[in-house]
Amino acid sequence: MPTALVTGASSGIGAAFARRLASDGYELVLVARNESRLTAGRLDLLKIGAPAVEVLTADLTDAGQRDAVCARLADAKKPVSLLVSNAGMALGKGFLASTAAELQAQLDLNVSAVMMLTHAALPGMIARGHGGIITISSIASMLPGRGSAYGAFKSWVTAFSEGIGMSVRSKGIRMVAVCPGFVRTEFHERAGIDMQGNPEWMFVPMDVLVGQSLAGLRAGKSVVIPGALYKTIAAAVKFAPRSLVRRATNLVDGRTRD
Ligand code: NAP
Repeated sequence: MPTALVTGASSGIGAAFARRLASDGYELVLVARNESRLTAGRLDLLKIGAPAVEVLTADLTDAGQRDAVCARLADAKKPVSLLVSNAGMALGKGFLASTAAELQAQLDLNVSAVMMLTHAALPGMIARGHGGIITISSIASMLPGRGSAYGAFKSWVTAFSEGIGMSVRSKGIRMVAVCPGFVRTEFHERAGIDMQGNPEWMFVPMDVLVGQSLAGLRAGKSVVIPGALYKTIAAAVKFAPRSLVRRATNLVDGRTRD
């Protein structure tokens, strides 16, 4: 059976990918920091169809622990055919309100881990002539940031996926950047961002996100924007003058909080 490694598999989008891949018959490697949540998730995934589930506890902001995940991805005896590079975080405050250490940790998780895991996974995939990589970016990657580094980090993820994906396409590898808008997960709560005033229609349903991501990967797309609302926003952003996009972003939410 094919094996998928999912980072940030203990909650939210990563856990949803793990559930869908388990029911599709994938063997799974679950990566996150919270071992007890991963272990509980493992039992559920076995019940819904995963033939085998490994738990790999790692803090991806720590270079040594990240290296252990890279080693698992590079292990030719236990090939991983799909990497879902999903773990990420927001700080919930502006650039200058954040400490240098917080910004470094956010960079390590949202950028360095995505790069290093891809670097570890690709050689084996190329040698085997097939493989897939899904990176979870954000619609924020297409918008001017609101005084935080989050959107810029996600711009890197989208550009990285597009560029590296193009370079390995002829070798049988598919790579797609997924750019969700708001999704109901623990993401905002962890960052201390109050989402109570946001109406339900602003949130992308999880099954739409996961389904469209996997369909986009299969179809060889470079970028997937799940849901009609955010597809429309992305199209408007693409064609509107950037100065207008900057003003509109500021009107909708001028606070600096990511
Ligand atoms: P979430 O529910 O908070 O999940 C984040 C996952 O990442 C958890 O499994 C967490 O597990 C893991 N994680 C956090 N820090 C980690 C670290 N240092 N090392 C290893 N794992 C770590 O949030 P989510 O919404 O599913 O976020 C997933 C991705 O979607 C992120 O990249 C985020 O930027 C992106 N995204 C989210 C939204 C949204 O509205 N929710 C929108 C656009 C993009 P542990 O705590 O167990 O480590």
